Amino acid sequence: MLGQLLLAASRSRLVRRSVSGLPLTRKVVDRFVAGETTHDAVAAVRRLTAAGLSATVDHLGEETRDSAQAAATAKAYVALMDALREAGLRAEASVKLSAVGQAIDEKMALEHAREICAAAHAAGSMVTLDMEDHTTVDSTLEVLRALREDFPATGVAIQAYLHRTPGDLRDLAVEGSRVRLVKGAYREPASVAHQSRTDVDRAYVRCLRILMAGKGYPMVATHDDRIISITELLADRFGRTFGDYEYQMLYGIRTDRQEELAAAGHTVRVYVPYGDDWYGYFMRRLAERPANVAFFLRALGGK
Ligand SMILES: Cc1cc2nc3c(=O)[nH]c(=O)nc-3n(C[C@H](O)[C@H](O)[C@H](O)COP(=O)(O)OP(=O)(O)OC[C@H]3O[C@@H](n4cnc5c(N)ncnc54)[C@H](O)[C@@H]3O)c2cc1C
Repeated sequence: MLGQLLLAASRSRLVRRSVSGLPLTRKVVDRFVAGETTHDAVAAVRRLTAAGLSATVDHLGEETRDSAQAAATAKAYVALMDALREAGLRAEASVKLSAVGQAIDEKMALEHAREICAAAHAAGSMVTLDMEDHTTVDSTLEVLRALREDFPATGVAIQAYLHRTPGDLRDLAVEGSRVRLVKGAYREPASVAHQSRTDVDRAYVRCLRILMAGKGYPMVATHDDRIISITELLADRFGRTFGDYEYQMLYGIRTDRQEELAAAGHTVRVYVPYGDDWYGYFMRRLAERPANVAFFLRALGGK
């Protein structure tokens, strides 16, 4: 219930204004966000790399209806990829198409995503498209198909909670296809998505099986230990070893588990958000775990 309220608040402009203006918010946000600038993002990638972890970097922002803002976001990604290359570091880019103009014009989003893919490619890296609410899935898969013509390593996040997902995964689980499987972080109606945690978890396992049995490269994005154990069983069953799949987790969440998996030989990629437009991302992280709300309230109370 609280989670649903927070997800509703994540789309509210009024709540956005109030929360963004609260004292101490920045300090709380820093638990989940690596900083505001390109320099902060590069520093986070350097720290993660030194700890034996990989990274994918997200320039915060979503749902823009302003074409200048969309162009600025693409430029920020290009600058980040250049800065990483100059620093001798490597990180992938995670891109929300709604941040580069998807709601204005799909072609605009495709062109900006192409610029980011080209910069990532020049830096020896690649891009994964994040998945947003269910109304954007067809458009995102369309843009993915177009990007893969020039940049075949472009990946995509797929949400296990959507009823349509097994069909999408069967199409995507092909040679060379990088797919990040997530449970799903948006508030969706029962007509399109599983609602209970148990149903979502079961759906995740069914989807994971399709990916692990297929020919693509599964990116298992979860902090859930039961799913990690099931991934290991499926890897065994389908003859996949360390380089054939990877784990992904969010910056600031279960850092000890990230390092443990990496020490065991797994590729563990940490999703590193940076930038000043943190509101939507931050609210989704609160919605995922009531304990995070208590942490937020304690910080506001100065304890
Ligand atoms: C790398 C990565 C990329 C993602 N990209 C997308 C995307 O493109 N689109 C999308 O819809 N969703 C995305 N998500 C979010 C995802 O959909 C889930 O909302 C989120 O990962 C929580 O699900 P879980 O699998 O960790 O399982 P849960 O059952 O939610 O959590 C399992 C355990 O993990 C820990 N945990 C989980 N979340 C938190 C948190 N916020 N704070 C503290 N502890 C926590 C807790 O110990 C919890 O018991 C992404 C997640 C990751 C890891």
